[in-house]
Amino acid sequence: QGYCSPSGPIESTHCLYETVESLNTALFPKLQKLVHYPFFRHYKVDLYRECPFWYENAFCMNRDCGVEAADESEIPEKWRARALSEVRHSSTTDGVSGCYFREQDFCYIEDDATQDGQYIDLTLNPERFTGYAGASAHQVWRAIYEENCFGLSEAAMDAAQSGSQHVISALAGLSASGNDAGVGFSKLSEGWGTEMVKGALKNDDMCEEKKVYYRVISGLHASISIHICHEYLDQTTGEWSPNLQCFINRLATHPERLSNVYFNAVLLLRAVARAGPYLEKYDIGTAPSLRYTDERSVARRAEDHQARQTLKEVLGLADGEMGKGFDESDFFAGQDAKLLKEQFKSHFRNVSRIMDCVGCDKCRLWGKLQVSGLGTALKILFELDDKALDPRRNPDLLQRSEVVALFNTLHRVSESLAAVEDFRKMYAVTQAEE
Ligand code: FAD
Repeated sequence: QGYCSPSGPIESTHCLYETVESLNTALFPKLQKLVHYPFFRHYKVDLYRECPFWYENAFCMNRDCGVEAADESEIPEKWRARALSEVRHSSTTDGVSGCYFREQDFCYIEDDATQDGQYIDLTLNPERFTGYAGASAHQVWRAIYEENCFGLSEAAMDAAQSGSQHVISALAGLSASGNDAGVGFSKLSEGWGTEMVKGALKNDDMCEEKKVYYRVISGLHASISIHICHEYLDQTTGEWSPNLQCFINRLATHPERLSNVYFNAVLLLRAVARAGPYLEKYDIGTAPSLRYTDERSVARRAEDHQARQTLKEVLGLADGEMGKGFDESDFFAGQDAKLLKEQFKSHFRNVSRIMDCVGCDKCRLWGKLQVSGLGTALKILFELDDKALDPRRNPDLLQRSEVVALFNTLHRVSESLAAVEDFRKMYAVTQAEE
């Protein structure tokens, strides 16, 4: 077996590592193309919301932490108009300071409709090494892992048991009532969550849903680490290049982390496959109406056409291999399914708020986007029945920002798997030289 080449079934799925790898060879170039089209590369996000859980004063002064905004003239008017009407018509929204969630959502939604925030061109802001590290970064990761401790917070338990969607309000309210209240939250964080959860994972009593929660978070963390190592800045030479030692330290010596990246790939692909008929009909057009015949509008229409074609190809690949790679009906089916799902959702929503505590703008941008992409996948898998996924019955099911986050998150994971392949080759070269 090659270096860092897991084989056999990926736990909690019906899929093999080998299947994901061979699929990724075809998928990655298509996703790479897809996320460069105007619909997919523009994401509206508020990067300047206060951290609701603790006083966050860690500003990353490194130039690479900064985010470049999009050219506003590139943003079609219809995105703002449509999103505004969606918010007005949705009766079950709840939210804090400019963001909201609906009953079925797994996270707070960053949206075209929010007053705050700005459009970011994702292609101008690649996820890579920024130098953000130390106590602030560790505090955020620790808080995220501790959301895995279902039932730890009494407030969260109470709210989940009453079937309420206000769990986050109990915690987000900390922000309104000042930082003192945040102490309660950070007290929960005294132990190192990761190790705690790892210990718990060995426990056979841990239910599948909790394992899924941990895998999703650990897979996200591992994927971010892979990007950091793959686009690493050598601070002495100023050159960007893959750093094999970084990969060995953070990933290769922790095979379970790598395995969780594959798990996220399966989860996201299955969600994309399940929502395929809906996504294929999604309006990803960015060109103005046919009335406009100027050169720019005509070029935009041609580009939209290519984007639709590429989307179709991505959906075809996902459906071909992942139609059965993950069976969502294996989860949330037991006696406590409803309660467990409410808890799962409220914890995941908290993770989307913890992202406001990340002390580096670019890391926050990609952190928020990927939590939203994973949250969208979880919603598609666990919250929506096939009738809801019928685009004729439910045309406004997913907001534009959810679709953008879903595909960009899949692209992040797919790029991570391609980077692992690069690291394998680099390792083989070092072995041959020895
Ligand atoms: P960390 O990655 O901070 O990990 C802390 C501890 O968590 C480790 O010691 C280990 O015990 C455990 N752990 C690590 N990985 C896993 C895993 N996959 N599963 C389970 N447990 C694990 N930095 C950048 O340079 N660019 C970015 O784009 C970027 N984005 C970020 C986004 C978010 C949301 C956060 C919170 C941080 C981000 N960072 C980014 C910082 C980066 O993730 C690391 O925190 C930083 O590089 C310091 O790494 P570290 O080696 O100290 O360990």
